[in-house]
Amino acid sequence: MTTPNDNLPCIEETDSDRRRGVLDDNALSLDLASAFAGDRALTEAEKDCLVDLKNTRGLRFYSDLFYSITHQYFAPEVAEVLWNEVLRHKHVLSEALGRNVKIAVATLDYLSNVTDFMVNTTLIGEVHIGEIIGLSLRDGLTGLFNHSYFYQQIDLEVKRYVRYGLPVTLVLIDIDDFKLVNDTYGHREGDRILAVIGKTLLHLARESDICCRYGGEEFAVILPLTLVHDAEAIANRMSKELAQRLPDGQTLTVSIGVAACGENTGTYQYLVEKADAALYQVKRSGKNRVEVATDEDV
Ligand code: GH3
Ligand code: MG
Ligand code: MG
Repeated sequence: MTTPNDNLPCIEETDSDRRRGVLDDNALSLDLASAFAGDRALTEAEKDCLVDLKNTRGLRFYSDLFYSITHQYFAPEVAEVLWNEVLRHKHVLSEALGRNVKIAVATLDYLSNVTDFMVNTTLIGEVHIGEIIGLSLRDGLTGLFNHSYFYQQIDLEVKRYVRYGLPVTLVLIDIDDFKLVNDTYGHREGDRILAVIGKTLLHLARESDICCRYGGEEFAVILPLTLVHDAEAIANRMSKELAQRLPDGQTLTVSIGVAACGENTGTYQYLVEKADAALYQVKRSGKNRVEVATDEDV
């Protein structure tokens, strides 16, 4: 039996690509991987979908198959070899037991008992793992994506821009004089306001937008496939909707910096810096408005 070389490089896609796969309803599901392995008949639509995936993903299709079954990443070359071995193993187990052994069971047995590709495995339902990953990406107070997810996604989007020219715009929002709000009404009221802002942002955002709590009273919204002109309009709507009346009759406002990828954008750090520079301009010039960054700002 050939044993795949486990020294082959494993990092071919980023963590965020892989995590996104778990949360993405369009990603290859365990059910489809199982059907592909012969556990049930494929519908015509599923056959088309698999042909499509094989064409677009190439050898990475095999990594996707294993990811859908194990939530572990295998480099494409390793995954292709392993897939054939696991299929053979599934056949052997099925013959021995006199019934179909599904691909998930055959994979688990092969990877943990025949080889040591997986150790200390545990059983967990697909729905639960999705929930757990979802929780680990979110901020508990606002329900928005957290700081680390923000960095993963902005990195991914800027890479897409650099590789394929797909536009992306970043909106950074900072609550004005929030320290004063805390000092006046207490931290709990401050928390309540942060939660309301999170809810409002989610309400305003489109499905493809990625709303994050960037820092304490700072928020970031990634707008994929959005040109700067549209992003500015969205940011102005956010500025209006996020403003809230405080108990003393004053209005809580926000300052917003907007930055789009352009000629000089090579990394996500550059884009974040650009949006930050625009936000800083707003703060310096009286707060409570939207500023769109230019490359000269960085
Ligand atoms: P500016 O207009 O310049 O942004 O002023 P600011 O007061 O909003 O900014 P500053 O950076 O001085 O203070 C931020 C405040 O946000 C102070 C901090 O206590 C508060 N804050 C950060 N995280 C939380 C949180 O989770 N809950 C609450 N209630 N307050 C928070
Ligand atoms: Mg701040
Ligand atoms: Mg602030």
